[in-house]
Amino acid sequence: MYRVFGIIGDPVSHSLSPVMHNAALRELGIRAVYGAFQVKKEHLKEAIEGIKALNISGVSVTIPHKEAVIPLLDYVDEVAQKIGAVNTIVNREGKLWGYNTDWLGVLKALYEKGIEIREKRVVIIGAGGASRAVVYALREGGAKEIILYNRTFEKAKALAEEFSCKALPWEELKKAEGDIIIQATSVGLKSMESPVPSEIFKNFKVAMDIVYLPLKTKFLQDAEKFCKIIDGLRMLLYQGVEQFKLFTGLNPPVNLMEKMLYEEVKKMEKELGFGD
Ligand code: NAP
Repeated sequence: MYRVFGIIGDPVSHSLSPVMHNAALRELGIRAVYGAFQVKKEHLKEAIEGIKALNISGVSVTIPHKEAVIPLLDYVDEVAQKIGAVNTIVNREGKLWGYNTDWLGVLKALYEKGIEIREKRVVIIGAGGASRAVVYALREGGAKEIILYNRTFEKAKALAEEFSCKALPWEELKKAEGDIIIQATSVGLKSMESPVPSEIFKNFKVAMDIVYLPLKTKFLQDAEKFCKIIDGLRMLLYQGVEQFKLFTGLNPPVNLMEKMLYEEVKKMEKELGFGD
């Protein structure tokens, strides 16, 4: 019997998860396919019921469903509850289990480059859904201080209170300083914009973007003169690696998944006119 996996989100047509997971499933000889399911907000409940009805083995969850899906599941892992977002659903004998692997993607993206988080001062730009996983990862990593800047200050303040961090007003971003800066807004996605003034990078040693299209965002271009840079595919890759383990119980071929992701992004950059 072929098993079925997939991703639910809206939009989902440009998701990189199918190439990454299908390559890994094929390589390990697992009889399974991974598809992309566009699910509108108003159809989320039926889509989740459909996972059970169709006996789909597991799904990745992306924008805009990561938070809304929580009350629809049978069990939600403690970490996913704390983060307040589920990016992975596993169907175990008809019961749906929710997990979050985004935060592990953030940690692995930093650790693989030998970057120490413990006792460091970290600045995070953004206070949306993805930022929650970033903040959780840095808390778990033992950061000394986490400072949040967000266009809508109230959101930064609420997130800071929840995770015992500090929120500063957007207007003060030009004075930001620390060891690591992480860009977790959607600014720079398919555009050459950066949410931060380029002169602040001299105040940091490491700059990470979670946006990955284009691969070298304006944020990373501005940063690379002063900082070690980390592109958004590193987080995507490692959240996918952890997700694959939850889906199959097996260790995936990480190098192959990485190769597929970078090839696919290069193709998408070409289509969109980036990187020429
Ligand atoms: P979200 O919940 O919609 O949050 C969007 C964030 O961007 C908010 O903080 C928002 O600020 C900010 N923002 C939007 N437009 C802005 C602007 N013009 N100027 C300043 N700030 C602006 O989205 P999300 O789920 O957090 O996702 C954010 C990005 O991360 C997306 O591009 C997504 O693709 C990417 N992502 C990457 C990975 C990965 O594995 N690499 C994983 C998850 C997400 P306000 O609060 O003021 O609106």
